[in-house]
Amino acid sequence: MTKIHYHRGDLPKTVDLGSIIAVDTEAMGLNPVRDALCVVQLSAGDGHAHIVQLFRDYDCPNLKRLLSDPQVLKIFHFARFDIAMMRKWLEIECTPVWCTKIASKLARTYTDRHGLKDVTRELVGADMNKAQQSSDWGAETLTDAQLNYAAGDVLHLHRIRLALLAMLEREGRQALAEACFKFLPTRAQLDLDGWDDSDIFSHT
Ligand code: MN
Repeated sequence: MTKIHYHRGDLPKTVDLGSIIAVDTEAMGLNPVRDALCVVQLSAGDGHAHIVQLFRDYDCPNLKRLLSDPQVLKIFHFARFDIAMMRKWLEIECTPVWCTKIASKLARTYTDRHGLKDVTRELVGADMNKAQQSSDWGAETLTDAQLNYAAGDVLHLHRIRLALLAMLEREGRQALAEACFKFLPTRAQLDLDGWDDSDIFSHT
C-alpha cells in the first residue's frame, strides 16, 4: 500500500500533491546553521511518499515553489526545525504550517510523550521504525533502509493532524494552536540568529 518515489535534485513538475501536504526533512545533523539539508519528504496523505534528495547547489525550483506556496498547508512534526532548515538552505519562507508536535503539547496534556513515535502509536495505532534516524543523509545515493525510514515520517501526519484537530476543538484550544503556528517563522528566525537557546519571553 505504501509507495515510495525517489527523486534526485528536485520534485518533478508532474507531481501534484494537493493543498495539504505532510513534510519532513533530513539533514547532516540537528544544528540548522551548521548542518546541511539533505532530504525533503512529502506526502499527500494517500500512502505515497515522495523523497527528494537535495545536493549542495539546492537547485530545486519546483520544490521551493511548492513549499512556499501560500495556498498549500504544510504539516510537520516539530516544524520549528524544518522551517529553519528551509530558510537557511533553500532561502524560502515555508508557510502556512501546521505542527503536530505543538498541537500534541496543547491537546495531550495528560502525557509528556510528544515524539512522533509516541504520537503515531497513540493516535494512528502504527509503529514506527527509528533505526535509520542517525544515518549519513549526505551520501551520494540513499539506501532502501533510508528511503523507508524517511517515508515513514510523512505517511501518518494527515491522520495525526485530524485526530489532534478534534482534540484541540474539544479542549477549546484551536485558536491558540493557530496563533502558535503563525509565530513559527519568527521562532525559526530567532533560532538562526542566535536566540536558539534562550526564551525571550521569560522574566530572567
Ligand atoms: Mn524525519
